Amino acid sequence: MSESGSDRQRNVVPHPRFGDQSVPSGYRVPFELIRACYCYDRPPVFPESAIPADISRQNFSVRPRYCYVDMLKGCRKCGRDFIFFAREQQYWYEELGFWVDADCVHCPECRRSNQHLRQRLKRFSHTMGRDAIGNEELATLVEDAVYLFEAGVLRNEQKLRRLKNLAATSIPESAARQAIEELVSKIESGRGTVL
Ligand SMILES: [Zn+2]
Repeated sequence: MSESGSDRQRNVVPHPRFGDQSVPSGYRVPFELIRACYCYDRPPVFPESAIPADISRQNFSVRPRYCYVDMLKGCRKCGRDFIFFAREQQYWYEELGFWVDADCVHCPECRRSNQHLRQRLKRFSHTMGRDAIGNEELATLVEDAVYLFEAGVLRNEQKLRRLKNLAATSIPESAARQAIEELVSKIESGRGTVL
């Protein structure tokens, strides 16, 4: 474990609540204890940010975590640095009931966009499963389809074409229709290369 995360701290993706800086907690947790709690992956940590944990609230199989500490991590998706804050860990492991081994591998921004993607996929699947929908819902459905296709989540081109035709008939003047037309023609012209 590097002794301190401060040596490497720059261009950190900010957390919406905690920001991009480690703040001293005011507790004095011995460094040996911090080391013992984070002996597996040994990320750079900010020892002065450590807070004691309530292990009676944790889910663990072998080792509880006796303290939490701000640690500097690299996002597995975008590669940028972010801080997995001690207070955030406390919330994960004591309030949300996550296993103490559950690791945080994505920066706040990527976590948010994953969440956004999941929400849109859920809405899309839900609306697709219905028998009849209004034009406003159709516009939302088409926008979701474009977004999900571009994100690589939706891959069914036939479904996309059916939605394109439906949009041309029912919501010809909408921005959604324009977006799906553009997407389909992009797929057709750049088949196998662009997308
Ligand atoms: Zn990221």
